[in-house]
Amino acid sequence: MTEDYEFLTDILDETQVSTTEETLTEHSGDWATLSEWITPEPVEPAVVVYPETTAEVAAVLEAATERDIPVTPYAAGTSLEGNPVPSHGGISMNLTKMNAVLDVRPEDFQIDVEPGVMGPDIVEAAGKHGLFFPPLPSSGDISTIGGMIANAASGMQTVKYGEVADWVLELEVVLADGSVITTGSKAPKTSAGYNLRDLFVGSEGTLGIVTRATLELAGRPAQIRGGRAIFETLDDATAAVTDVVTAGVDVAKIELMDTQSARISNAYTGADLPDTPMVFLEFHADHSIEEEIEFCRSVIESHGPLAFETAGEEEMDKLWEARKELAYALSEYDPDLQPLHAGDVTVPISEYGPTIEYAKTQANETGLLVPCFGHAGDGNVHYAVLVDPEDDAEVERGKEVYAALVDRAIAVGGTATGEHGVGRGKREYLVDEHGEDTVEAMRAIKRALDPTDTLNPGKIFPETTTGERVREHTETT
Ligand SMILES: Cc1cc2nc3c(=O)[nH]c(=O)nc-3n(C[C@H](O)[C@H](O)[C@H](O)COP(=O)(O)OP(=O)(O)OC[C@H]3O[C@@H](n4cnc5c(N)ncnc54)[C@H](O)[C@@H]3O)c2cc1C
Repeated sequence: MTEDYEFLTDILDETQVSTTEETLTEHSGDWATLSEWITPEPVEPAVVVYPETTAEVAAVLEAATERDIPVTPYAAGTSLEGNPVPSHGGISMNLTKMNAVLDVRPEDFQIDVEPGVMGPDIVEAAGKHGLFFPPLPSSGDISTIGGMIANAASGMQTVKYGEVADWVLELEVVLADGSVITTGSKAPKTSAGYNLRDLFVGSEGTLGIVTRATLELAGRPAQIRGGRAIFETLDDATAAVTDVVTAGVDVAKIELMDTQSARISNAYTGADLPDTPMVFLEFHADHSIEEEIEFCRSVIESHGPLAFETAGEEEMDKLWEARKELAYALSEYDPDLQPLHAGDVTVPISEYGPTIEYAKTQANETGLLVPCFGHAGDGNVHYAVLVDPEDDAEVERGKEVYAALVDRAIAVGGTATGEHGVGRGKREYLVDEHGEDTVEAMRAIKRALDPTDTLNPGKIFPETTTGERVREHTETT
């Protein structure tokens, strides 16, 4: 460790500070950066610290800001847009040692947790009281609550229960200068002052470091059932999804897989299913679930499905297998093809079908495979553009398809990213989506809370694609 960083061992125990090559490499990227060939660009921090208390987080931040050293929060590193990559080096602050469930108050449907708590810990602590945390993302088993809050994550159950953001009541946050603030309330609602809590949700560690969160919980539904509908055409499948949502069917999950995704997944699982679009459903209720399923059946059957099956909780995994195995199926599909990084555009529900149609047109015109799937009820289209990494022209065509889908989502009033955040990967779309004035308002907030751009520099803002920090942009404009 260079002299510049020796101050850290005055604040933390030596065991909480690491400069081993293995640790630096591990903190140089996230899931996409370290595992995808297309946007590697890992950046090693100079040092990794493992604080265990809010006071330690505050002391490190205060000292780093005084010395003009960048600090990038790092949790489980499962981001997909380079969000926790320490783009400007400096300190990577790993929050996973702050992993205590502090309190569960079942009578208030609340849980207090430290930021490094993982999804399964919340499931277990809440489950003891017959409660659960509905918005966990699909990566809930491998990611932390701090990372979920910072990335404004959401999961398959958003269509019924909302996003992580909707279940955060109160946050303790350490700002760049080391001050510790609490924002939000343990009351179910508040209108007292600016809603700073929601400002920190989705700020990707650029405004403050979350050191404690009070989350809302829900009662576990007494009845859970699964469903799967198979369609002949994509039009029928997307129209059925839109109708189920707009008719007000009470679904807890509704996921779509297009023909290409079905073919890839069926080949992987060996399932005896047609290679045609499928819709996967889950229903939650405390009573009368069969009535809701019949309502859903009537809507789906008006779109002529080849099959519509339902199952109890025990058999649901089998019904959902094709969807659950899709991520693995995609990665193993063809050794000569690799996916460009994961798309997660999200559009108003009426644009859901047309967006997937557009993706298919792009695929046909370019001769590329673009399997589409995702959290259909939220208008969230996940897509993978598969290309041969050895073929430069094909890679360029793939990037154009990827970008065309983002551009179209924004043009129809949607967003470049429904759940993965901006990180490094989506910065170039921020102005297109929000307009320059809105992005300038975001910069003003960043400068107010973190004038030295200590926290996670090089993320979210478009100018940082050229390597500048937000304050440098301020100085030159
Ligand atoms: C297989 C797979 C499936 C996925 N599925 C989903 C999905 O369904 N829905 C979804 O939304 N996402 C999904 N993701 C993306 C990712 O898992 C989520 O964004 C997750 O919430 C990131 O959490 P993490 O603990 O890994 O955080 P990290 O990746 O380590 O960090 C995420 C961001 O938060 C910041 N940060 C971390 N901790 C703190 C803190 N305490 N305070 C302030 N900032 C902090 C970091 O600087 C970084 O910017 C998936 C990823 C994978 C690999």
